[in-house]
Amino acid sequence: GIGDMLYDSQIFDKSGNNKQDIDEAKSYLEKLDAFDYKFKVGDYFFNKWHFRSLITHYVTLANKGQMKISFKDLLTLLAGKKLESYADKITEYFTMMTGQDFLPNSPTMMNAGGRLGQLSACFVLGMEDGMEEIMKSTSDAALIFKSGGGVGINYSNLREEGDIVASTSGVASGPVSFMNIINTVTEVVKQGGKRRGANMGIIEAWHPDVEKFITNKTEAGVLENFNVSVGIWEDFWHALVNTTDGNYVLRSPRDRKPVKEINAHQLIDLIALSAWKSAEPGLIFFDQINKYNVFAKARQAPLRATNPCGEQSLYPYESCNLGSINLVNLAKRQADGSYEFDWQGYEEIIRKTTRFLDNIIDVNNYPVPEISTASKESRRIGLGVMGVADLLYRLKIPYNSQEGYELQSKLSEALTYYSMEESVALARSRGEFPLCAKTEYPEGKIPISGYYEKSKESHSYEWEPLIEEIKKHGIRNVLTTTVAPTGTLSMIADCSNGMEPAFALVFEKRVTVGRFFYTNKILEEALKEEGLYTDEILEKIADNYGSLKGLDEIPQWMQDVFVTAMDIHWADHLMAQGVWQDWIGNAIAKTINMPYDVTVEDVKSAYLLAHEIGLKGMTVYRDGSRHKQVLHMTSEN
Ligand code: UDP
Repeated sequence: GIGDMLYDSQIFDKSGNNKQDIDEAKSYLEKLDAFDYKFKVGDYFFNKWHFRSLITHYVTLANKGQMKISFKDLLTLLAGKKLESYADKITEYFTMMTGQDFLPNSPTMMNAGGRLGQLSACFVLGMEDGMEEIMKSTSDAALIFKSGGGVGINYSNLREEGDIVASTSGVASGPVSFMNIINTVTEVVKQGGKRRGANMGIIEAWHPDVEKFITNKTEAGVLENFNVSVGIWEDFWHALVNTTDGNYVLRSPRDRKPVKEINAHQLIDLIALSAWKSAEPGLIFFDQINKYNVFAKARQAPLRATNPCGEQSLYPYESCNLGSINLVNLAKRQADGSYEFDWQGYEEIIRKTTRFLDNIIDVNNYPVPEISTASKESRRIGLGVMGVADLLYRLKIPYNSQEGYELQSKLSEALTYYSMEESVALARSRGEFPLCAKTEYPEGKIPISGYYEKSKESHSYEWEPLIEEIKKHGIRNVLTTTVAPTGTLSMIADCSNGMEPAFALVFEKRVTVGRFFYTNKILEEALKEEGLYTDEILEKIADNYGSLKGLDEIPQWMQDVFVTAMDIHWADHLMAQGVWQDWIGNAIAKTINMPYDVTVEDVKSAYLLAHEIGLKGMTVYRDGSRHKQVLHMTSEN
């Protein structure tokens, strides 16, 4: 609401503020700490923390010379009719969040209005080949962790282990050992004091240390604060699938001269074996990420890194704030007791939340100035979804069926279509993102693969008129959509996470006072309706790895609809990731679950299929393969 107020009050300006305005606002902050109070705006109470957040944002913006009125005038403006007219918007955002219909990423929830005021979840930092540069990135990373974000870093520019260091006539320690520095910093600086650090460490397949990088994490206790991924480009894929000998040259990061020749098949085997053993490394398909990257022209470079969970590819110093719509809340009960998806409600919430996330870019307090600059140049936002599996359970549509995929595809297309349309509307009222004119948008290109690669007949929305609008007015956000893991958000909203099927429908918890079952709430309703809800059946499901498959008491329709991650074949997991990826501007956080008894060849086949269907990255998880498995179906296994 505060972001909207600032924008719509037309108080943004590039002419700058005088120091007096800023000091005045700051003095309010000091006075505020002395007492507690509330004041009423319409039906909504503004409390000390809301007010504090307003002042903090005013000071942040004023410091950058983006406010054209004094703080006193802002207060007068807000105290008068203006504030009244924002009561509705404030209430609207407030109800959306408390109603669990939409939640911004957890740093926004934890930090908004507080002293930190850092609201983004995702960051990417550069890592250049020099001691000063390495230490600068390390100190930037520390500030990001402190404020609650996670960092992705591509280490491929660092010279390989054993290479020469001219200034000291010594030898380089190589990227793998440098990753330990940030790993340790993460350990020490707990994120925003509230959550564990998450990092993504990337090495591209051509780097001479790639084999060491791949096998490095198979041991327990190594780089525990990092997810690691191998970055793939066209040349590697070409050697792998189009040549008979599979010869592939590893090159020096310093001068790109050949260092040694390896076999692409052996390298992918090594990756598959390691992922089979320990769920890492993941693969990042930079060729797919950059295929429709309309922003590359403005940055004069391709994207070469992602955030820790892989759903956002970002340029160095870019950040992204995410938010997720809870889809299960959009299933509306009909008179006959069945449920239907509310497409109108979906469009409305997509528009509102696109605006919400765009506001966050300006009211955000960035950890370092470079991040503020880069984030505002692209104004990237990541609107996504959660509760997909719960929605499908509620609509009685199997996740891994033709109907399930068609519905997910349309949900994904609608998300990007309406958010881009809203972003164009915002460009008209607030201006396009600063680098928009330098991208391929004015040429009529869009960063959405589905538009180019899916047949026209299968599109659910009219993309051409939207592209014309973008050519005319620009767009406010370089990309608008992503599907995040929603680890914390889905717990708060009590729904299935992201677009993942439920891991287990029922699991048992044993605590000192006894044992109880956690049951998926949609399943609970269905069991009650079928007259099947008893402690015995819950126990049976929990003992059946949280799945309904093969339980005689459970009707077939329920076994087909209520599928878990382990019930679904890995190829179907990939299909689901694919239907979402077709229409999502950024990427999808998804785990390709595999049973314990799959082979390394299966993992390799999954890589080939993933690339074939145009995924931007992939992570496999073979049941039982992690040193520490986070979620167990029952307390015994
Ligand atoms: N993330 C992080 N630490 C964590 C979890 C997440 O830094 O412990 C970052 C990471 O960049 C991830 C992003 O937040 O990709 C979004 O994760 P998620 O959707 O789980 O966040 P939530 O908002 O639900 O906490």
